[in-house]
Amino acid sequence: MPDAVRVTVLGKSPSWQDAGGACSGYLVEEDGVRVLLDCGNGVFAKLRRHVAYADVDAVVLSHLHADHFLDLVPFAYALRYAPSQQVPEPARPALHAPPGARDTFRRVVGAWGSEDLIEGAFDLREYEPAEVLHAGPLTLRFQPVPHFVPANAIEVTSARGGRLTFGADSGPSDELCAFARDTDLLLIEATLPEPEAGGPRGHLTPAEAGEHGRRAGARRLVITHLTDELDAAWAEGEAERAFGGPVEVAREGAVYEL
Ligand SMILES: [Zn+2]
Ligand SMILES: [Zn+2]
Repeated sequence: MPDAVRVTVLGKSPSWQDAGGACSGYLVEEDGVRVLLDCGNGVFAKLRRHVAYADVDAVVLSHLHADHFLDLVPFAYALRYAPSQQVPEPARPALHAPPGARDTFRRVVGAWGSEDLIEGAFDLREYEPAEVLHAGPLTLRFQPVPHFVPANAIEVTSARGGRLTFGADSGPSDELCAFARDTDLLLIEATLPEPEAGGPRGHLTPAEAGEHGRRAGARRLVITHLTDELDAAWAEGEAERAFGGPVEVAREGAVYEL
């Protein structure tokens, strides 16, 4: 019997890291294929605790905020300069990033004159949210969600049928509920102690995250992207009341099987 799909939380912090933690990063594995969803600051060191970075097949980014891509920088340095990579055919993982990523990366690493650092280390492709991607037995689909920059929820479906929906960073979204309908595991942000006071919405409270899980009919709900400075028990209780069932607060190292 082959192994189930494994989802490992590498980092669950919001845009600043928990003590000893990492920002957004989730490792999805099936049949030896490894896909990293997001690569926020702190994620590269956490990734190395679980797998050899050269064995990552693809990195897929939900959006171009620092806490979702900044550790592409150390990852790229490792791919280019690590002793193990000085071989005729070094590892060059696929990097699927939203439109505009190449330009964003060039500006970030161009600050110290290394414009092509990331595109030289990875096989960079900008995806359109309507595209369907494949990585070994895994199929990935996207759903644009409301945030302060273009952002996409990501669905990962196993050839065996297990399904993960990662909500990215998102304000309240009917489309996200529909996209996640009947999913096996909804990994959804719950960043805010209370809704943004004014202006456009770009994040959710734990209660809103629970409500999205209930509306989607998600089989299992995990809330993430919340700081260790928020009371996790409070967040869990808020989410559970709205969801109508048990909810887990993401913690680094947690593994979910689909
Ligand atoms: Zn974020
Ligand atoms: Zn964001």
